Amino acid sequence: MADIRVGAGNDLHRLRAGGPLVLAGVAIPAPVEADGHSDADVVMHAVTDAVLGAAALGDIGRLFPDTDPTYRDADSALFLTEAVRLAGLAGYRVGNVDVTIQLETPRLAPHIDAMRARLAGCLGIDARRVGIKAKTGEGIGPIGRGEAVAGDAVVLLTGG
Ligand code: MG
Repeated sequence: MADIRVGAGNDLHRLRAGGPLVLAGVAIPAPVEADGHSDADVVMHAVTDAVLGAAALGDIGRLFPDTDPTYRDADSALFLTEAVRLAGLAGYRVGNVDVTIQLETPRLAPHIDAMRARLAGCLGIDARRVGIKAKTGEGIGPIGRGEAVAGDAVVLLTGG
C-alpha cells in the first residue's frame, strides 16, 4: 500500500502600516504589510510547516531560525522549496495542498489564482492540486480588527 502522509501548518503575523502584503509569494497591493524576520508570508510558512510535518522533518523554526541573519527579509518561497526537497529525499512527493487565509482587508479573490500558481511552482505540482480559500475575521478579534493575518494549510504527501 502506498505510504500516505498528512501534515498541518499554521502561521500568524502582525500587520503594520506599509505594503505590499506578501501572501503565497504574491505581492498584494495593500496599506499594510506583515511584520516578521523574513518576508513574513503566512501562507508560505504554513505550507512549509505542513510539508515538514507530514514527513516528520521538524518545523520551519528549527530549519530556518529567525535568529539567523541569513533569513532577514528572505523570500519565504526558499523555505518551501527546501522543505519539498527534503521531503523528496525522504521519499515523498506532494499530492495536494489546501490553504485557508484569514485577513480582514483587502479582498483576496482577485489574487487567488496567482497565489495558487506560485505555490504550485514551489511544490512541483499542477495548480489544480492547490486550493486557497480566504476568510475575514468578521470584524472581531485580532484578525477582524486588521491587526494580524493568519494562514492554515493541510498537505498530503505520497511515498513508497
Ligand atoms: Mg511565520
